[in-house]
Amino acid sequence: MQNKRVPMRMCTGCNEHKPKRELVRVVRSPEGEIFLDLTGKKSGRGAYVCNNIDCLKKARKSKRIERAFSCEIPEAVYDRLEEEMAKGE
Ligand SMILES: [Zn+2]
Repeated sequence: MQNKRVPMRMCTGCNEHKPKRELVRVVRSPEGEIFLDLTGKKSGRGAYVCNNIDCLKKARKSKRIERAFSCEIPEAVYDRLEEEMAKGE
């Protein structure tokens, strides 16, 4: 049985709500750096995406992470996020 108090977050790729720990946090640090926060403990604004590259690609296409951070994300940053995600899988 699932604990009802498990924090849920929405994936910016598939738009599904999932337990936070099943998602990967994408962080925009106060310095404006964007990276995957695999520990979930980095400070900054966060957006969530499922731990798979397809959802990250969907989020990239729909620009939902950019909307969550209200900033533009350069292609090179997305490429790096996808690389990090591929490594972590
Ligand atoms: Zn997803």
